[in-house]
Amino acid sequence: MALATLYCRAQLGMDAPLVTVEVDIGNGLPAFALVGLPEASVREARERVRAAILNAGFEFPARRITVNLAPAELPKEGGRFDLAIAIGILQASSQLPMENNGRLELYGELALSGELRPCTGLLPALLACQKAGRAALFPEACREEASLLPSLKAYGAPTLLAVCAHLAGQQALALLAPLAAAQSAAPDPLSLNDVVGQAQAKRALMVAAAGGHHLLFIGPPGTGKSMLARRLPGILPPLGEDCAQQSAAIYSLAGKPRDTGSWRQPPWRTPHHTASAVALVGGGSMPRPGEISLAHNGVLFLDEIAEYDRKVLDCLREPMETGEVSISRAAHQARFPARFRLVAAANPCPCGHFGNPRRACRCSPDQIRRYLAKLSGPFLDRIDLQVEVAMLPPGSLAGQAPSGPDNDELRAKVAACQQRQFSRQGCLNADLEGEPMRHACQLPPELAQWYDATLQALGLSARVHHKLLKVARTLADWQKAEAITQAHLSEAMQYRAMDRLLGTLP
Ligand SMILES: [Zn+2]
Repeated sequence: MALATLYCRAQLGMDAPLVTVEVDIGNGLPAFALVGLPEASVREARERVRAAILNAGFEFPARRITVNLAPAELPKEGGRFDLAIAIGILQASSQLPMENNGRLELYGELALSGELRPCTGLLPALLACQKAGRAALFPEACREEASLLPSLKAYGAPTLLAVCAHLAGQQALALLAPLAAAQSAAPDPLSLNDVVGQAQAKRALMVAAAGGHHLLFIGPPGTGKSMLARRLPGILPPLGEDCAQQSAAIYSLAGKPRDTGSWRQPPWRTPHHTASAVALVGGGSMPRPGEISLAHNGVLFLDEIAEYDRKVLDCLREPMETGEVSISRAAHQARFPARFRLVAAANPCPCGHFGNPRRACRCSPDQIRRYLAKLSGPFLDRIDLQVEVAMLPPGSLAGQAPSGPDNDELRAKVAACQQRQFSRQGCLNADLEGEPMRHACQLPPELAQWYDATLQALGLSARVHHKLLKVARTLADWQKAEAITQAHLSEAMQYRAMDRLLGTLP
């Protein structure tokens, strides 16, 4: 038989559609044709495969070889199809048996010597392979990534020769052992308890962690805004298996495989303020995920947010609304999930001391207005918690020891609070909308009246109405309370530091 059919997968955003690799060997002048819209990097497979087959001690058939990668309209990139093509040629020329092809997917770029080189972004393909119930054969160097998928039947191989020996039944490759559960949790060492003072900021971190709210710290330089923000990952519960696999798949696509020791930890991303829009939201000719997708299921921390390019910040608006980002390239559209929790830190003005009772601000009202305008507008609208981190009076912390619950205790409380929200409405409070929102945040008529009147008196517009309700809902859930009370609403209103600052401008 001169036709071999094998399976591999292409990459399209987070999807890994199946690619059928057909190898036909026919009579005619020796030729090697590769069809099915292959990119340049795949076309070069001809040279790699030829050399690898010869160097592995096999015969390269001097006949007419046609390799078809189907479906043709799917973009195919990289060297991951090499192994399937090489095995197909060996099978179609009767140098290897052809059984089991239907139950196997083959991945790997071939070196000219026949060694298997690792391929980037393999995890989404392996996830799809696991779902399809096939076994996967891939380069040994991808073992660690693959070990994150416990139900995948996986084999890692060092060379083409080892793959052939396995398929010919001469020397079986060892089945990959899934990662031990004990290896998958490494709590963050930074404790919220270490921070003395700043009670409101610490409280806001817990609320943000529990309800999934975006958070802005605003205050003069040196008050510990980023030090506080860095404590958030330590109180977030570990990711469930599905979420952790999804995050690992995104990291894999970005070419930054997650460390298997900490892969259950919610991601923590801190892109620099010089980051481009593509680095932040993703892109490229073959779209790759950006920082906001790497932060999916975790935290995106933007320190000194006023330093970021306004245009770059504007790119965050849509993903913050929809929880995903879609990138169009030529005829194809790639989607990446991007449900992240934003934590931002900012000075209140260019010099940093606007509103600081202990140091005079040197900025003109116009400068401050321009500066704050950059942070406000539609972007700020999506941040539920705005908290002032004030300069503490000198000596005020002397003799104060850390107090309050430690990270383990807080993490358990955050997890319980999130569980409460999921069982009530299927999402975190920050993501509430429409009917579920009305249902979860219902106020008795008297309280509703008080709420509207108080918002008006404080000069808080209707646009923060829903936002504060969601925060109040999280405060109620934190206390395991069924109903939102006046105390919850009053506390939620305290997390409006930006509105207060804008209100004090001359
Ligand atoms: Zn200033």
